[in-house]
Amino acid sequence: MNPPHAPHIPHAPRTPRRRGGFRAVALLLAGLPTVLTGCGAPGGPSDSGGTPSIVVTTNILGDVTREVAGDEAEVTVLMPPGADPHSFGVSAAQAAGLERADLIVHNGMGLEENVLRHVEAAREEGVPTEAVGEAVDPLPYASGDAAGNPDPHFWTDPERMIAATEVIAERIIEEVPGVDADAVRENADAYTDLLRELTDWMEEEFATIPPGHRDLVTNHHVFGYLAERFDFRVIGAVIPGGTTLASPGASDLESLSRAIVEADVGAIFVDSSHPDRLARALREESGLDVEIVPLFSESLTAPGEGAGTYEEMMRANTRAIVDGLA
Ligand SMILES: [Zn+2]
Repeated sequence: MNPPHAPHIPHAPRTPRRRGGFRAVALLLAGLPTVLTGCGAPGGPSDSGGTPSIVVTTNILGDVTREVAGDEAEVTVLMPPGADPHSFGVSAAQAAGLERADLIVHNGMGLEENVLRHVEAAREEGVPTEAVGEAVDPLPYASGDAAGNPDPHFWTDPERMIAATEVIAERIIEEVPGVDADAVRENADAYTDLLRELTDWMEEEFATIPPGHRDLVTNHHVFGYLAERFDFRVIGAVIPGGTTLASPGASDLESLSRAIVEADVGAIFVDSSHPDRLARALREESGLDVEIVPLFSESLTAPGEGAGTYEEMMRANTRAIVDGLA
């Protein structure tokens, strides 16, 4: 669905970029071209002479990293809007870009199944990497086929995203050459304030759901962290695992429809970027009286399409959950 050669390819390797471009020109004018010939020398990725570069795998963490980095570094996001992080694969150019980064920010915990080996290859080349999910008190899946395994979908809890903001800020300050640490901390503080407001607002909105109806049925197990933070019950998932790459058997669907009837659930939440074929089939076959409600669970959208930023995504999902369970 999302071809790896989609538009968000990182900039070509040595094209002068914004501030880097000006700096390069200034150095040339100053008669110091030798600095530029250091491009690609084995000393490390930051020898490239351009603006410091951070590569982020998912577009959700990409948004947060851009907020934190501000003007201090160029942030390249590998996954285009609507990408499924479980199945997304990098292009050759993106893989090469990873090896030239000053810092790689990724989700980790098995989310980016087809990107991880490239992140590991870059780490072996000496590029610092941060698996943000692993640093923010991860939870295991509470139910389903993956029960007990670490759940990578931490972003559905905005409090954990506050912790993630801190982790990303510290790594940028430590690893990215030439950044203004105070500026990065200020950016992180401002973004943290925004996330605190978001959490309070979500709390208030969810409080309007009638008692006993904080029940979630989703297309795969994606809202465990949201459930834990805001006291929802996860009744089940159409795909009973933690990845969209699994598929349910007939008995899985049967026991899910029983659970839906027992809990009197009125909505199945599916990811807007995935076909809702399975959820529809489940509803038809079992004659359930449920609404199928799309959420932005795995990926941001293009700007203006409902979930252009992490904050927009969380607000849109909160409204859809409240409406679906009302
Ligand atoms: Zn997922």
